[in-house]
Amino acid sequence: MRADDTPEEVAAPPRPLPSVDIPLLRHERRAGRQVRMIWTGVGATLVLVAAGVAYLNRHDSADDPASAPPPPMLESPAADASVGVDASLPAPAEVPEAPAVELQRASEGGTRLETTFGSARGFRPALLAAGLDNDDAAELETALQGTIDFRRCHPTDVMIINRDADGGLHSFEYHASRRDYVLAERDAHGQLHAEHRERPLDVTPLARGGVIRTSLGEALEALGLGRTLVGSFVEVFDGRVNFQRATRVGDRFKILVDEERLDGELWDYAPPRALEFDGQRTGRVRAFYFAPEGRRGDYYDEDGRSMRGGWLRTPLHYDHISSPFDMHRMHPILHRIQPHNGVDYAAGTGTPVWAAAGGTVIWAGPKGANGNLVGLRHQDGYTTWYAHLSYIAPGIRRGATVEQMQRIGLVGTTGRSTGPHLHFGLKRGTRFVDPLPIINGPGALLPAGLRGPFRRVQRELTAALDAIDAGPAPASQPEPSPHDDPAPIDVPLD
Ligand SMILES: [Zn+2]
Repeated sequence: MRADDTPEEVAAPPRPLPSVDIPLLRHERRAGRQVRMIWTGVGATLVLVAAGVAYLNRHDSADDPASAPPPPMLESPAADASVGVDASLPAPAEVPEAPAVELQRASEGGTRLETTFGSARGFRPALLAAGLDNDDAAELETALQGTIDFRRCHPTDVMIINRDADGGLHSFEYHASRRDYVLAERDAHGQLHAEHRERPLDVTPLARGGVIRTSLGEALEALGLGRTLVGSFVEVFDGRVNFQRATRVGDRFKILVDEERLDGELWDYAPPRALEFDGQRTGRVRAFYFAPEGRRGDYYDEDGRSMRGGWLRTPLHYDHISSPFDMHRMHPILHRIQPHNGVDYAAGTGTPVWAAAGGTVIWAGPKGANGNLVGLRHQDGYTTWYAHLSYIAPGIRRGATVEQMQRIGLVGTTGRSTGPHLHFGLKRGTRFVDPLPIINGPGALLPAGLRGPFRRVQRELTAALDAIDAGPAPASQPEPSPHDDPAPIDVPLD
């Protein structure tokens, strides 16, 4: 059936619900953090008030950086000024209008006031409640036009007002999230200018290695790393290591990664600079991150070949391959020798089918024995073909561009087909070729001009990997009985 009437419609590839061992995508992690931030912000505020008071008691002339209080939630331009925080914040409904309290003078003789948006009914009232006079508030509001969406202010948003020694408005900060904020500052002519700023992250390069006892996620956690890094291993070694089937207890791994922290709390990881997996089934594989000028950063093996051949390893989650590429196959319906010019992946009707690589749609619709067919044109003269679909996704029509792993349709059994499966064909130029060696094959070598720079990066990273002690070798693990296949490690793919 051509399922235009299927109510469900999804453009992005489906994601399982996040559980502890399923790596989250970057945007999912950020969304989670933002929610968490709102709550931890409340707790941190109370702690900081206590710390600030204690600090004031101890240091009236704060000039001893060695015994500084815990890092303030928001960085102060006057480095040694303790941060005063309004203790009576959130609970929007009950917040009295603008309980702004000045706790400390900034070092240049000016003052710094930190407060929250609170329960003000608008941006201007919030500024007035924070103690700005009408002229300053009006000037500030004008300067901030276009940088802050005044309708989206939140009671817990933090406002910081810095005044000169003579009490004039010097600068203003608006923090609606932990990292990004808006700064309005006076220029040399006294004009206020506003712009978006990002608080810098504390970046710590980490070199870690470990042995898998139960799961890769747990082993990473035992090293003080986030489970989200499981996703890096799965993605980078996609096609080389099947983390669902080929990993065993005692397998070892190494990772070079920059950890990014904000206020001492884990913010994110940069793309790992190098990864190593040393498995009993897989042997040792290494991947090096290389981002030459003007080129997107990617992972390369020790020979400078792209880790990702540019293809998805499979264009769907399938049960098994029900029929391989075979130029001399006896056809199951026609009962004569007819080439099978693709791979049949058995999968239930309705299983999502993804574009194996980014490209352009060259066919979308019924085509004889193929049933509902989608054809995509990719780089280097390749085209991919997806047949017997029960449903073609909206927007998949001739000329449309698709991204890798975009959902293009659903598995079905339309056309000449004995049961639900995806027939996946790959053409190089005008000839069908066996897709498996190509989509699982090695990627392209770096262009000659980039191999030198890559070698230099790779030598450095190799030395760093070699210096990591991942723990005892797999051989020194308790010997499994020869009749006992070691237990596979349960690392879900996404
Ligand atoms: Zn087929």
